[in-house]
Amino acid sequence: MIINTEGIVLRQRKIAGNRRMIVIFTRQYGKISAGTSINERSRSRSALALRPFTFAEYELFKGRDSYSINSASARRSYYSIGEDLDRFVNASSFIDYLDKVTAEGEPMPVLYDLSIEYLESAARAGKSADTLLLAFIVKSLRILGVSPELKSCVNCGKPLSEMAAEEGQGTFRRFSVTSGGIICEHCAKIEKSESGSLIYRPSFDIIDVFKYFQSKPLRTFEKVNLREDVVYIVKKMLSEYTGRYLDADVLSGSAELEV
Ligand SMILES: [Zn+2]
Repeated sequence: MIINTEGIVLRQRKIAGNRRMIVIFTRQYGKISAGTSINERSRSRSALALRPFTFAEYELFKGRDSYSINSASARRSYYSIGEDLDRFVNASSFIDYLDKVTAEGEPMPVLYDLSIEYLESAARAGKSADTLLLAFIVKSLRILGVSPELKSCVNCGKPLSEMAAEEGQGTFRRFSVTSGGIICEHCAKIEKSESGSLIYRPSFDIIDVFKYFQSKPLRTFEKVNLREDVVYIVKKMLSEYTGRYLDADVLSGSAELEV
């Protein structure tokens, strides 16, 4: 059976017979692996379609238990991502993340569309490349069904207004990676007594930051430069959060976290 789909290349490897196996995140069929003998080094549009940071149209032959690429044509190549180190490092983490959170043969069109938006913006991002990736990840959590709880204590359900009344207005919120959301003072004490608990209490409103990422279109973040300490903490939190809930920690390897 011949099928047509658009997609983004996630990775590839050599296989027998001078062929390669390409892993593509497609809009219609989710992640698939497809064999090809198209020579990547040629200058054709089909070769371009197999490169990283490219969005392409593929004609695939679907066999009984495998796909092969009949032809491919690049629709858009975000080559400017490779021209800047910050863009490149972040967009590479983005590709790793997509690969980890998608499963073969499970269509995720909403995540796919958000990914194309990300590539469009990543190709233009300057100093905001970091912030753009964090915004993409926060938005993806909702699509993947693992959004953090931000309206009340994740453990006892106490509303934010009650927490403020007890602890004082303007008190910095606690966020528990272990429990998956905002946590009240009482529950934080209990959780801290257990080993391996991960509770953050940043000196900025973490709820505001998450809501900001969730509510604005991704392209907004092409030009947003969050404070360095905010980026540092949010990156660390998201790194642990995605590791715990999606087994997709792609942020901890970045240079900023090793300083
Ligand atoms: Zn609580």
